[in-house]
Amino acid sequence: MTQRICDCPYCKCVVPETAPEVNGKSYCCEACASAHPDSQPCQNSQCDCHHHGWGGIKT
Ligand SMILES: [Zn+2]
Ligand SMILES: [Zn+2]
Ligand SMILES: [Zn+2]
Repeated sequence: MTQRICDCPYCKCVVPETAPEVNGKSYCCEACASAHPDSQPCQNSQCDCHHHGWGGIKT
């Protein structure tokens, strides 16, 4: 089993098997996958990736 790391640039969380996949990238949670709209927090409360406001996924 390979562990994937979330593709949210500031997130280091491991991506679970059931994680949402967007444009071929894997994210640990819906919040990361949708680029933290309204600073929606990561599924991991220890993770502060949503504070960085990286501007979202450009499609
Ligand atoms: Zn995170
Ligand atoms: Zn993440
Ligand atoms: Zn994130």
